[in-house]
Amino acid sequence: MKEPSQILKDLKAIIIDTHVVYASGKHGNAYINKDAVYPHTKDISALCKMMAEKFKGKGVEAVAGPTVGGVILAQWVAHFLSEMEGREICGVFAEEEVALDGEKKRFFKRGYDKLIAGKKVLVVEDILTTGGSVKKVIDAAKALGSNVLACAALVNRGNVKDADVGAPIHALINVNLESFDEKDCPLCKNNVPINVEVGKGREYLKNRSK
Ligand SMILES: [Zn+2]
Repeated sequence: MKEPSQILKDLKAIIIDTHVVYASGKHGNAYINKDAVYPHTKDISALCKMMAEKFKGKGVEAVAGPTVGGVILAQWVAHFLSEMEGREICGVFAEEEVALDGEKKRFFKRGYDKLIAGKKVLVVEDILTTGGSVKKVIDAAKALGSNVLACAALVNRGNVKDADVGAPIHALINVNLESFDEKDCPLCKNNVPINVEVGKGREYLKNRSK
């Protein structure tokens, strides 16, 4: 069986040794494109099976993720855990909405709150960059009295810590992407061509040529 990192490399979901411009405007040497994984059901299901295997026999009662990618992950992980344990483990998701206090939070709507309230929940996420969106899912589950057992992720790319999300993190892949401010970028200094296929490289070059 292929290693998780090899699956992502083969799908070009992880590109290394490149020169990219991130959405933040910073430059870096690697890029993770989660959108390249989801259409390939054989690969995403294989990754989710690996995530499920880690939590087999741990008493998970429901799997929850954030929209959009977390919907797919929650479905597959819950499917495999159900199969492994011979009982139904539901897969649900939390959507973002502006709360009464004006802050963007996540909520379990569509009656899903009743499926996870007071239950042992495994929260899933694709890429942990800061852990911000998955933390909102964990907060929403805890607000319903759920016991969040862990946060399972495909990739931890930001060295995100358990305390950042409020649950123990289990990532299939840990990568440390280096990023630089444009003025300090060693790749710019060495005239490494900017990757225009991913990230904001194309826009960056367009604006620079104005
Ligand atoms: Zn650069």
